[in-house]
Amino acid sequence: MIKKVIITITAFLMIFTAGCSNKPEHKKLKAAATIFPIYDFVKNIGGNFVEPVLILPAGSSPHTFSPTVKDLKNLTGAKVIFTNGFGLDEWVNKLAKSAGIKKQVSINTQFKSIVDAHNGNPHLWMNPEYATEECKVILNTLSKIDPAHKDYYERNYKEYTKNILETAENLKKELNSLKNRNFIAFHPAYTYFAEYFGLNEIAVIERTPGREPTPKEIISIENLIKNGKVKVLFKEPQLSSNIVNTIEEDTGVKVETLDPLGGVNGRDSYTELLIYDVEKVKQALKK
Ligand SMILES: [Zn+2]
Repeated sequence: MIKKVIITITAFLMIFTAGCSNKPEHKKLKAAATIFPIYDFVKNIGGNFVEPVLILPAGSSPHTFSPTVKDLKNLTGAKVIFTNGFGLDEWVNKLAKSAGIKKQVSINTQFKSIVDAHNGNPHLWMNPEYATEECKVILNTLSKIDPAHKDYYERNYKEYTKNILETAENLKKELNSLKNRNFIAFHPAYTYFAEYFGLNEIAVIERTPGREPTPKEIISIENLIKNGKVKVLFKEPQLSSNIVNTIEEDTGVKVETLDPLGGVNGRDSYTELLIYDVEKVKQALKK
């Protein structure tokens, strides 16, 4: 009798286990993003049903990036690629074509007039309010591709964008006491960031990344520092130039680091990136 029961149980367990392993595993929707902030938006909105893929490796700049075969492999099976657009990540076009991915969505087409008014400046994500608009495009796209989880994506979007705005508003308050709000950036990555946080990106070293400033431009930057207009120059982890050292030696300007992309330890999410940058600004500009 006992033997019979054991056999029955074993048989039952076998059928049960077989049943489980035969069941097709839930397949996540693979969605790629060109730069880290967009990747983080996709990750937060997509949650359990999306596998986000980041194309631009941490530490690289989208302005100087050239994709490799490895980047192509990562993209295999992606249903959509989210891009920033406005010339920041055009290298993705060739990559998408090679990987056979037809759906490419720029999260910024709604900002065309703003970008035009800023000489084509593509760094929209650095303004947290614009970031939530970008998230909306991601929400709509994911909901269209995977309508079964529309409500889920919508809930994530609401919670996530609320969190971005609350974080940003609190950070803004932290800068209230700053008097001199001028800074020099390495390249115009913080223009929209400065607009949101009430700061002033008074000059940049490289207007176009990779193109060094002319001697005349260097002199005019150095004069801003010598005249006491600006005390801080922000360099970046992804781009560099010896000109920064030259200006530092010539003028004694305070050189600190701001990061427009994140994706590394300590700023491994978009909100952590905002916190990092605002803290850097606060420390560099106070007194
Ligand atoms: Zn940039």
